[in-house]
Amino acid sequence: MAGLKVEWNDWCPGCGNFGILSAEQQAIQELGLDPKKVVIVSGIGCSGKIPHFMRLPVSGVHTLHGRALTFAIGIKLANPSLEVIVNGGDGDQLGIGIGHFVSAGRRNVDITVIIHNNGVYGLTKGQASPTLKLGVKTKSLPQPNINSDINPIAVAIAAGYTFAARGYAYDVKHLKELIKKAIKHKGLAMIDVLQPCPTYNDIQTKEYYDKRVYKLDDDPTWDPVVKKPEEVEEKMNKAIDKSMEWGDRIPIGVFYQNELVPTYEQRILQRSPSYLDNPPASQTVEFEGKPITDIDDILKERSIG
Ligand code: SF4
Ligand code: MG
Repeated sequence: MAGLKVEWNDWCPGCGNFGILSAEQQAIQELGLDPKKVVIVSGIGCSGKIPHFMRLPVSGVHTLHGRALTFAIGIKLANPSLEVIVNGGDGDQLGIGIGHFVSAGRRNVDITVIIHNNGVYGLTKGQASPTLKLGVKTKSLPQPNINSDINPIAVAIAAGYTFAARGYAYDVKHLKELIKKAIKHKGLAMIDVLQPCPTYNDIQTKEYYDKRVYKLDDDPTWDPVVKKPEEVEEKMNKAIDKSMEWGDRIPIGVFYQNELVPTYEQRILQRSPSYLDNPPASQTVEFEGKPITDIDDILKERSIG
């Protein structure tokens, strides 16, 4: 989809998605990434439109509902020199996509996952999404939410993500810095972004979050980075405990970071030493219209189970 950009943006006025779009573009620019080496992969939902609205010459892939992560992992493994960012809603990634979201943690592929968390399915008129709390009644629900919610930070850490953070769509500067950290992180990084949907979620509004969010960075004793293996359990537990704080105060910032876990790319490299020099995307597969690659040999060499 490279180069296919629309000239208009149909998100509702005041939508938190604008802040995420802005922060993401600024992060890509400030990191000095070559836009041609950046791929934005999205699912289905209001957030899924983000590749179309990018004002940078990055590549974009607007995929299927709940499947963006699988496309992203495939793109990254085929061409590990690319910087791959997944954008998807809470409904997209934590509802239909939750299986992929959880299993991705086992692999620790070096990509960034951004959740546009608005508590509703905005594109389909505001049904309760997996992050809406039990008993909350937003304006499009006939009765209060009957389901309990998923905590994206806790799920990500328990699943094996090696970077977990929470941002706020209206604090673009802070979110931009989080996205930069997530991109620079070596491993699977997730940012849960509190994203007001002024059209369908009249509870978790900008006013609601403005008076509640506080930054973990403001606490000089908060240190989410694992520096040695013995710290893993303690830092995981602290991060999950902190992520449960939700009431008059809601923390944002980095909850957990562990770069001691090998990435999936490093694991492949151990079995296939030529992987980074000659990844699948740069291999010649045909000559004069005829396949020249023996798929059986490739599968044998890359037998990574
Ligand atoms: Fe944003 Fe909600 Fe409108 Fe979708 S419905 S564009 S999430 S405000
Ligand atoms: Mg949503």
